[in-house]
Amino acid sequence: MMARRGVHDVAVVGAGMVGAALALALANDGFDVALIEPRPPAPWRESDEVDLRVVALAPSAIELFRRLDVWTSISAARACAYRHMRVWDALAPGNLQFDGADVDAAQLGYIVENRLIQHCLWQALQRAPGVTLHCPGRVVASQCDAARRALTLDDDNTVAARLVVAADGAESPLRQLLGIATKDRDYAQRAVVAHVATERAHEFTAWQRFLPQATLAFLPLADGRSSIVWSVPDAEAQRLLALDDDEFRAELGAAFDFRLGAVTAITARAAFPLRLRLSERYIAQRFALIGDAAHVVHPLAGQGVNLGLRDVDELCAVLQQARAAQGDIAATHVLRRYERRRRSDNLLAAHAFDTIQRVFGQQQSGLLTVARGAALGVVDRLPPLKRMFARHAAGR
Ligand SMILES: Cc1cc2nc3c(=O)[nH]c(=O)nc-3n(C[C@H](O)[C@H](O)[C@H](O)COP(=O)(O)OP(=O)(O)OC[C@H]3O[C@@H](n4cnc5c(N)ncnc54)[C@H](O)[C@@H]3O)c2cc1C
Repeated sequence: MMARRGVHDVAVVGAGMVGAALALALANDGFDVALIEPRPPAPWRESDEVDLRVVALAPSAIELFRRLDVWTSISAARACAYRHMRVWDALAPGNLQFDGADVDAAQLGYIVENRLIQHCLWQALQRAPGVTLHCPGRVVASQCDAARRALTLDDDNTVAARLVVAADGAESPLRQLLGIATKDRDYAQRAVVAHVATERAHEFTAWQRFLPQATLAFLPLADGRSSIVWSVPDAEAQRLLALDDDEFRAELGAAFDFRLGAVTAITARAAFPLRLRLSERYIAQRFALIGDAAHVVHPLAGQGVNLGLRDVDELCAVLQQARAAQGDIAATHVLRRYERRRRSDNLLAAHAFDTIQRVFGQQQSGLLTVARGAALGVVDRLPPLKRMFARHAAGR
């Protein structure tokens, strides 16, 4: 599809949850947006099995989806509120509990399928007046002059915009094309995911247990089952994937301390490699990075897409301010404001999750084991500290 006019305000590359939300937010704000994506999201149908990829959405993400007018369709389709969070440790006695009241809400967030979020955003984008979709389309080259950045697509079309935003995921081909370096740490772990039925109800609670060299989360689903995220060393992931269903259910139940009784049924399993990847810069000339293209974090705190959606909020805010001041929306000082605000927040979160992963994820010495149990207990017994953690996770 050709561009509606010569130069768009913003070209967003990648229509995952973050890129699609940004394109919709900007179009709703009256910007002229191009959105480039190699493949349309698979359609979501209620009769389909629940997608294996789910995310825990924080209140800040839900507020954004409400403003984008997609939350009603997401929540009406299939979303599960979680009202409590329970964290405990297999090696030490401490535990940590959060409730909606810690963030002044009835719930801490919602568990939603990635595919459902993408589907609802995509449908809204088809109706949005200010969006030109290039799908299928893949960026193969990028050039910049004083007034615009031009993207060459694999079908030889050119898309030009005053600002280009890469939301093309952890591998971000566009970030690589522009030579922006990243700092990486391979956790040598995989997250094994599946949906399971349990003997007892999930109590609308997100459960997380720290194990020697592993973390195991049970996230509540709307149909009463739980979605598991079991982060383990690579070799252990291979072993777990190779078990038959009965063996896997038995090991899973034991690893979870049978907190919800026995695991009675399980879907297919999948595994995702885990790493920390932090982009050294978020901006270049008429260019910004957003979402996983800018930062990939360990999933133990369930914050990856929540951070990306906070990037969306911030980028929209600085672009609106620049437009209101009748300035260039891609001026360096405008993009710097976005980078300064989001990079510090994302770095803080990424390093916090990395520290938790290091403390809880390695072979334990006696002293460290005592310290990790004490740490959970201390946070739990100090309401102001606990509230601070809860409010940060909620994006407030
Ligand atoms: C096991 C696991 C559990 C997780 N749980 C949570 C959770 O509970 N809560 C949470 O907040 N986060 C969670 N995350 C993280 C979350 O899934 C990611 O942060 C999120 O999916 C990133 O979204 P994105 O839109 O930035 O990138 P992506 O979803 O990777 O989207 C990138 C898009 O760019 C497109 N693209 C790629 N190349 C090109 C190109 N050349 N041109 C154009 N388009 C291109 C792709 O097709 C894709 O549509 C979890 C991650 C894992 C692995």
